Amino acid sequence: MTSYADLLEKNRRYLWNPFTQMKDYLDRDPVIVARGEGRKLIDVDGRAYWDGVSSLWLNVHGHRVPELDEAIRRQLDQIAHSTLLGQGNVPAILLAERLVQIVPSGLAKLFFSDSGAEAVEIALKMAFQFWQNVGKSRKNKFVSMSDGYHGDTIGAVSVGDVELFHARYTPLLFTSYRVPFPNSYRNPYRDAEPREGALHAVQQLFERKADEIAALIVEPVQGAGGIVPAPKGFLQGLRALCDAYDVLLIVDEVATGFGRTGRMWACDHEGVTPDILTIGKGLTGGYLPVAATLATNRIYDAFYGEYDEFKALYHGHSYTGNQLGCACALENLDLMDRNRIVDNVKELSPLLAMRLASLRQHPHVGDVRQAGFMVGIELVQDRESKRPFPVNKRVAWRVCWKARELGMLLRPLGDVVVFMPPLASTEDEIFEMTSILCEAIERGLREVSSC
Ligand code: PMP
Repeated sequence: MTSYADLLEKNRRYLWNPFTQMKDYLDRDPVIVARGEGRKLIDVDGRAYWDGVSSLWLNVHGHRVPELDEAIRRQLDQIAHSTLLGQGNVPAILLAERLVQIVPSGLAKLFFSDSGAEAVEIALKMAFQFWQNVGKSRKNKFVSMSDGYHGDTIGAVSVGDVELFHARYTPLLFTSYRVPFPNSYRNPYRDAEPREGALHAVQQLFERKADEIAALIVEPVQGAGGIVPAPKGFLQGLRALCDAYDVLLIVDEVATGFGRTGRMWACDHEGVTPDILTIGKGLTGGYLPVAATLATNRIYDAFYGEYDEFKALYHGHSYTGNQLGCACALENLDLMDRNRIVDNVKELSPLLAMRLASLRQHPHVGDVRQAGFMVGIELVQDRESKRPFPVNKRVAWRVCWKARELGMLLRPLGDVVVFMPPLASTEDEIFEMTSILCEAIERGLREVSSC
């Protein structure tokens, strides 16, 4: 096998990694993964690491899952890929049926894509064109949340608001109305509780502008914005406002779907059905790039009719509905049922919370936020004032480097240490991973204080 040194040199010469300052990455002897085993990743030199962020928040069962491997092999014996443009394929149709049966009731039609960002692009185009198709083309603007994140393509960035990722692309983007997200740790509303403040702001906006608003898009738990769960009742409140003012509600469950928060969908905690739902990440158990956008019949029907070129939804990718991915997703859903994965998250969430409880006493831990197996630990210079560390201290990065030394791979978001174990992690595994997490936070903060 090619040695670590060779691979690193080839990485240096040929590969540009995403979301990565390449010099910083190459100078720090990056982990180069050779294989996976259960909840661990193993590098080319044979060192094993816990997959502490589920390979970017998507791994469900772990790696090298015999049932998923076999499902892909079985599908390979039939066909790897054919297009969904103007024709069907077996696993795509069966998967659409299966997903429509388990998403919040009322979502009736499914449109495939290959990534969460694409699922969001499709949601935006669907909502935009829906109003044209029903003769209300003035409704062509979007409402999105401050600190929201919906992917890296231009439309998704237009409704995103993570300063570091998005600000420099502003001249390329369409504008959308922005409402401050009801962040319970850093409440943006001076005179109200976060939920009431945000719902009031949405209502005021709708009162003035509903006749030009196509849809509002929201994450039930803000992911890249720092793992910030919306307060209880917020989604329900948005649903009621969208109904009252005839605005479509798009819920982005790319990160929260497939059990991550302890229910199959974060929407299930509130009994809410959006008009459009975006899903991805855990859909194939973390194996293959399949995502989807689901819509109600009201939306679908506005595109349906006698041959009318103008009414079709002009969107589709070369690999849309890929058979290997869809077959894998079908097996993933079976395995999630058989192994009671969503219950596992629900049952082990209190243990996870308990294991992190002591962090709350730490003078530099501002907030510990959790929704199921989705955890964000915000580090601050000063707890009282919530003052952040200077950016150049790279405090959360330091914690992640310490975690790597201790045998777990993490990736931070600003000053937030993110922990998202694979959903099938056992009690013992959660115990071990949280030990490393707490130790890494301790060591990272000690290092920052001493420099
Ligand atoms: N929406 C949300 C809420 C996400 O968290 C992400 C990815 N982290 C995306 C969309 C984009 O998904 P992808 O990376 O698959 O394009």
